[in-house]
Amino acid sequence: GLVLGLETSCDETAAAVLDWEGRVRSSIVSSQHATHGPYGGVVPELAARRHIETIESIARRALDQADAGWANLRLIACTSGPGLAGALLVGLSYGKALAYALRIPWVTVNHLDGHIASAWIDRPASRSSALVLVVSGGHTHLYRTAGTSGYRLLGRTLDDAAGEAFDKGAKLLGLGFPGGPALDKLARSGNPKAVRFPRSLGKRTSLDFSFSGLKTSLLYHLRDHPDWDQPTRTADIAASYQEAIVDVLVIKALRAVDQSGLRTLAVVGGVSANSRLRARLMEAASTQGIEVVIPPLSLCTDNAVMIAKAGLDAYCQGRMASWDMESQANASFPGTDEPFNGVAI
Ligand code: ATP
Ligand code: MG
Ligand code: FE
Repeated sequence: GLVLGLETSCDETAAAVLDWEGRVRSSIVSSQHATHGPYGGVVPELAARRHIETIESIARRALDQADAGWANLRLIACTSGPGLAGALLVGLSYGKALAYALRIPWVTVNHLDGHIASAWIDRPASRSSALVLVVSGGHTHLYRTAGTSGYRLLGRTLDDAAGEAFDKGAKLLGLGFPGGPALDKLARSGNPKAVRFPRSLGKRTSLDFSFSGLKTSLLYHLRDHPDWDQPTRTADIAASYQEAIVDVLVIKALRAVDQSGLRTLAVVGGVSANSRLRARLMEAASTQGIEVVIPPLSLCTDNAVMIAKAGLDAYCQGRMASWDMESQANASFPGTDEPFNGVAI
């Protein structure tokens, strides 16, 4: 039997097929960046419409690529939230209807639970207690987890998410939307020590994050240096700005490792694709003797492999969705209001 995962929480329409052992058989991601780019951000109504137009063909392509048909499916997993209400509704309704018609079980997955599952996709057997840093477009959250069965929130951003800091910085530098990947690329040819941007580290033990001051200081720097758009200057500024974000993420993650006594650190979400962050984490792994787990590049930003995997885990633990389950645009994340996976640790 196979698992079909569906992800439509934001501006990617994605479908993936996994076998019952969790091995990836196919993964299709259709990004709407061209649709939203001209607006400088995701337009919710347009996102929902694009999902409606593409979900059926994306699901079929995922099945084709897996050399499978509807009849081979044994489970369907859909993202239920958090995300854009209209966008979530499309994938959820489509997957629910499909499961009902095929008379197979249906599970819903918290989008962050999906991102977290992506770290261990290549080595599911080694998933145990760990610190998890979720760094995405909407979240910068630090958790302690116990395998797939519980979460405790240790720290979170007080203002912008790390991905937002990348996107807003990129926008100021005229790099388009979403600018994180473009800023990463430009920064490779710049000097990360050229401009000294602030690092907000908080009190000595704090595991919370803040990026709004950094963004403001970039704004002031550009205002005070009208020659900033010379190519080498822009690359230096991009590298310095990126370094400030990466520094804070690495310092806080290692701080949490020290405080917890755990030796495994997972970093997931779109920003885990950042080349500088990945390099710094690998360096920390070898100098600190800790295990660092990061998703393959293709699974850092939104995809359906992670949803299928988290859904399969949920199903195997007996966590089914009821047929009247609604989408949850404001779904809580683990540890804030309520444990999202049923268990608080
Ligand atoms: P969330 O998961 O919080 O609901 P999301 O699903 O929109 O938000 P993701 O798809 O996980 O977010 O990640 C998208 C974010 O990752 C964007 O902010 C994007 O700029 C950022 N990002 C992607 N690649 C890179 C990179 N190489 N360097 C820095 N940032 C990146
Ligand atoms: Mg996206
Ligand atoms: Fe995401």
